[in-house]
Amino acid sequence: MSADCLFCKIIAGEIPANIIYEDSLLVVFEDIDPQAPQHFLIVPKKHIATTLDLTAEDNELVGHVYQIAGKVARDSGFSADGFRVVNNCNDGGGQTVWHIHFHLLGGRNMTWPPG
Ligand code: AMP
Ligand code: ZN
Repeated sequence: MSADCLFCKIIAGEIPANIIYEDSLLVVFEDIDPQAPQHFLIVPKKHIATTLDLTAEDNELVGHVYQIAGKVARDSGFSADGFRVVNNCNDGGGQTVWHIHFHLLGGRNMTWPPG
């Protein structure tokens, strides 16, 4: 838990969010500013600021993130049509919240390259 971290506060239940899945390692909740018909954030409970702060200790955690991305996509009904998992790192990568998270976007066709 990092005292001034928005996502740590959501994980601790201090700030509300629409949590659709939770287990011992992560939470999944709806993005407050959805960029697709279905837009979830997969957020590890461990406070890790960015992708650059991951260590080998987190390998299992990141694998679990992708497994849960598939589960949520299937359970939400957009897995067959297709979806996107996105991690933004640092300012140039579009990161605005400094607690690692993975966007799960579905319900529309994605374009390439991303903006
Ligand atoms: P990023 O720009 O990759 O760091 O993503 C941060 C995401 O967090 C953005 O898509 C925001 O819309 C989302 N966000 C910010 N505050 C909240 C909140 N209180 N509840 C849910 N999502 C949020
Ligand atoms: Zn945090």
